[in-house]
Amino acid sequence: MKEDFTEKYSISQKIMRFVGEAIRDYSMIMPGDRIMIGLSGGKDSLILSLALAVLRRRSPVKFDLAAFLIDQTGGTMDTSMLEGFMNELGITLSTFKHPTYKIIKERDERSPCSFCANLRRGMLASHAKESGANVLALGHHKDDAVETVILNLFYGGRFKCYQPNMFMSRTEVRVIRPLVYIEERRIALEAARLNLPVTSACCPYSEKSKRLSAKKIIEDMEKEIPEIKSNVIHALKNVLESDVW
Ligand code: SF4
Repeated sequence: MKEDFTEKYSISQKIMRFVGEAIRDYSMIMPGDRIMIGLSGGKDSLILSLALAVLRRRSPVKFDLAAFLIDQTGGTMDTSMLEGFMNELGITLSTFKHPTYKIIKERDERSPCSFCANLRRGMLASHAKESGANVLALGHHKDDAVETVILNLFYGGRFKCYQPNMFMSRTEVRVIRPLVYIEERRIALEAARLNLPVTSACCPYSEKSKRLSAKKIIEDMEKEIPEIKSNVIHALKNVLESDVW
């Protein structure tokens, strides 16, 4: 008999509570939703997959799950452990090979991360639509949201972030981010505790990204203001008309 994955991967109740709150606050999952998880192989998308697989089993709201992985190395990523893990969760995984890093190098992209993120989001949304999914679930967490605010503010001069639940009219797919209330370090600890098969393709641009500078700014400030990330999220939820020029 197949082992029950919730015994092998007994996810923290605190993580499940944060996921539940985010899903409720932003009405992320509706009855009959066909959800496609955008899998990268990193800790975030693995925790997301596990949390949604647990929720699918527990929730009175019935929904379908599948996952899609883009191997951005063009085919050198070893996906065998990921396939095994998704199989244990009962989630069908499709894989697509794309030479993203090669294209970035050939184009000598000045902003490799925004080019890469846009490309990946487009490919994920198109695949979700083609495969009949109406929702795309991404593993962005609280730190990602705060870093995005800092990047937009400091480099783009705008106070803005992506929505936790956002309808993309071009593909008619809804993008949801159920991990937005969870800090990255909590996700990292949980992925290590559960010994999840984290399989990240090594990106040659990760060390140079502006996002890394934003992460460093937040880390430094957090020493003086421990609640800095929660304050930024609070500000995102409470922009008053009287506070803007
Ligand atoms: S670090 Fe690499 S994989 Fe991540 S967004 Fe930037 S280019 Fe893409």
